Amino acid sequence: MARAWTLTSRPTGMPTHDNFALVDADLPTLDDGMIRVRNHWLSVDPYMRGRMNDVKSYVPPFAIGEPMQGGAVGEVVESRADGFAVGDRVVHMAGWRDEAVIPAAGAQKIPHGDIPMQRYLGHLGMPGMTAWFGLLAVAEAKAGDTVFVSAAAGAVGSAVVQIAKAKGMTVIGSAGGADKVALVESLGADAAIDYKAGGSLAKALGAAAPKGIDVYFDNVGGAHLDAALACARDRARFAICGMIEGYNSAEPAQLRYLMRIISARIQLRGFIVSDFQSRVGEFYSEMGALVAAGKIRSEETIKEGLETTPEAFLGLFSGGNVGKMLVRV
Ligand code: NDP
Repeated sequence: MARAWTLTSRPTGMPTHDNFALVDADLPTLDDGMIRVRNHWLSVDPYMRGRMNDVKSYVPPFAIGEPMQGGAVGEVVESRADGFAVGDRVVHMAGWRDEAVIPAAGAQKIPHGDIPMQRYLGHLGMPGMTAWFGLLAVAEAKAGDTVFVSAAAGAVGSAVVQIAKAKGMTVIGSAGGADKVALVESLGADAAIDYKAGGSLAKALGAAAPKGIDVYFDNVGGAHLDAALACARDRARFAICGMIEGYNSAEPAQLRYLMRIISARIQLRGFIVSDFQSRVGEFYSEMGALVAAGKIRSEETIKEGLETTPEAFLGLFSGGNVGKMLVRV
């Protein structure tokens, strides 16, 4: 028997605790090729909000009353799969629960070593890979570029700031509040904007980048995207990664500077991190080298206990995290 979070109803607007229930869930039989994993760390991610809606997307919606899924890191406690032994550490998608029986084909072993295992849910996992390929492959950012990144104190954004600095770019980050701005600067950003301080975001960005920006890494959408459009140089490239400002809202975004896409020949490219699955080896070797060289600092916000998982998830939408939001089971 496992304890697992289920979705009891589909949220309208901002989800609440009432949309979730912690239940006892039967574990499947451990057949050939399967492993039983005790989860140590769970990831909560903004994209999960989209899975709570009953709409067709690049991942299917969560089923009502069934254990939810998400990134997790755990330890193999029983194995009937070749190549997986008790004690192995794995990253897999049966999160939102304390224990899971899963096909070993859906789990990836992670090394025992100096790197904390939860890092494989952060800068050495999906958010880090999103930052890496979004910046370097989607936006084709290169040394000398001026890069603007929103949600710069978060999991993806804090990686974008540091990868861009390591690659010789000028970086401007935005985040909510003075503490987060100080953090973004401490990660190496050349300037940081507190978007909650009030005033025009386009003016603040224009002051930080008087010659304009070459690249925008969008995590937020809405007013941030509009400010980036206002300040884009000719032929600027935008990696459209996320638009968290709109995830709980039915209101359409108002973009005053949309038409600059034409006059400034701005390229906007949306992407999903899984588009780059075939290049995961490149990510591990190059990002791994930056981590090993101490060029990437990983911040984490940790909630304690499986019970806190919905609280951790909801915190993503109120800026309750610095760096990667995690649950320690
Ligand atoms: P973060 O760790 O950045 O957490 C979310 C942050 O977003 C919060 O800490 C908060 O920071 C900020 N935020 C929340 N609501 C708003 C709002 N209304 N306006 C402005 N900022 C807001 O999350 P991730 O790093 O995991 O994800 C960042 C973005 O990347 C998300 O949009 C996500 O959906 C997207 N993503 C896309 C992927 C892809 O494949 N395309 C893969 C992974 C992530 P603050 O306090 O600064 O406001």
